[in-house]
Amino acid sequence: MIRTRFAPSPTGYLHVGGLRTALYCYLFARKNNGKFLLRIEDTDQERFVEGAVENLLETLKWVGLEYDEGPLENGSEKGKYGPYIQSKRTETYKKHADELLAKGAAYRCFCTKDRLDDMRARQTANKQAPMYDRHCLNLPDSEIQAKLKAGEIFVIRQKIPYETIKFNDMIRGNVQFDGKTIDDQVLVKSDGFPTYHLANVVDDHLMEITHVIRGEEWLPSTPKHIALYRAFGWTPPEFAHIPLLLNADKTKLSKRQGHVSVEEYINAGYLREAIINFVTFLGWHPGSGNENEIYTLQDLEKIFTLEKVHKAGAIFNIEKLDWFNWRWQKQKHTETLEKLAKEIDPEVKIEETRPGQFKYIFDTQENEDIFLAKRGKILLEICNKHLDKKSIKDEKQLLKALVTVEEKILRSPKEIKENIEFYFELPHYEKDLLTHEKLGVDYKVAKESVKAATEDLEKLDKWTPASLEKALQKTVEKLHVQNGQVFWPARAALSGLKFSPGVFELAWVLGKKETLKRLKKAYELL
Ligand code: GLU
Repeated sequence: MIRTRFAPSPTGYLHVGGLRTALYCYLFARKNNGKFLLRIEDTDQERFVEGAVENLLETLKWVGLEYDEGPLENGSEKGKYGPYIQSKRTETYKKHADELLAKGAAYRCFCTKDRLDDMRARQTANKQAPMYDRHCLNLPDSEIQAKLKAGEIFVIRQKIPYETIKFNDMIRGNVQFDGKTIDDQVLVKSDGFPTYHLANVVDDHLMEITHVIRGEEWLPSTPKHIALYRAFGWTPPEFAHIPLLLNADKTKLSKRQGHVSVEEYINAGYLREAIINFVTFLGWHPGSGNENEIYTLQDLEKIFTLEKVHKAGAIFNIEKLDWFNWRWQKQKHTETLEKLAKEIDPEVKIEETRPGQFKYIFDTQENEDIFLAKRGKILLEICNKHLDKKSIKDEKQLLKALVTVEEKILRSPKEIKENIEFYFELPHYEKDLLTHEKLGVDYKVAKESVKAATEDLEKLDKWTPASLEKALQKTVEKLHVQNGQVFWPARAALSGLKFSPGVFELAWVLGKKETLKRLKKAYELL
């Protein structure tokens, strides 16, 4: 049975690269009916961060990555290979370190910090790569015993075999390292705690991990691990090293160039579906012939393969995340609206006017009004935290305004303020805005259109997008002009902007009084 594990060191937050590793481990296990484990690698006591494990578990839960074995939020665990927290397994590591010592695959090193510093300085001066010089490799047993008796501090180092260490990586193919270039790794620190290397290999073996899927930054550690498996007489698992995450300038993804913790994206309001979809596609693609890029976690569980993971580094492109988020927002929103519309009126007619664009046709104006108000409320929830509500007095009007910029809210809720403020305060605009050469609107046409539109709307009582459309259509007919020759100047007059929602929607949100006021202002300007 396939068994994978996500083995984070709790740093206080979940890195997006960590989430990707977790996702690939999870998906690979699910696709192959295997098991997915969570193991906490917290042997580095110096880097202990309060609450880090809890935070990690919470984030994984939010994302929806369920593991079959591992620590739980209430402090207990599930699975029979535990404990799954390395700091609770120190005895196991000790036993295995002793075994390596007895086999001659590891040795005690009593070198002081000063000696090691001198050694490194000498090596650097001689343009050699700093590496332990094996000063303690062949200490006579009597000397070791005497030092131990005297209470001298020591670490345990791995004796890296001086040979070529080869292995097959499922993503990178054949990889080989020359043992002579690999430092004799510390396996047990002077405080008695194991390093990552020892604990990781011992646990992967004892937990019967079949596939180690991890970031490429661990590739240079793998020959050390292979050497440990051999020393213990164990069969190593399969390895798959996934490509680095890069900034747009192709440097390694760093905090300096943007957010790297999943929590920050959660707090910024990104949807979990979008985060999963985006992160999985960092360095993986279902392959040609699969144009669809929108997948749920459940979809991905069925199609994920390691063969489709790319070798090259994956660029972390925030615009792409925004794109996924918009697609997911839109999908969810469309479903919500359909449900809402049918709740209000089971007989509602839903027409797709353009791909992904739906019109909801109700029998009565009352139902339509209820629908619009609720639709506005749903949008308000999406962009609520980005709104400055102090400047908005009329909530009914706000809800209508939100409906008119629905696409923009779904695409980028952060920009909501800029997108609706013109409703509450007409921006300053130049007279030129009211004209449009291509549409055949010069000053004269603009002036006549604005005047006629004002007169026709003044007479209008029922103020809905549909009745407004009817009324302005009549204005067009009366003046014997093209639609754009009335709609453009009227729209520009109502928004003060080059781009905005359409004129009927604008007038509907602004209400009769404000609409007429803005039209009159344009007329005066002309
Ligand atoms: N604890 C390591 C980390 O923080 C795990 C590396 C591995 O998967 O072997 O990434």
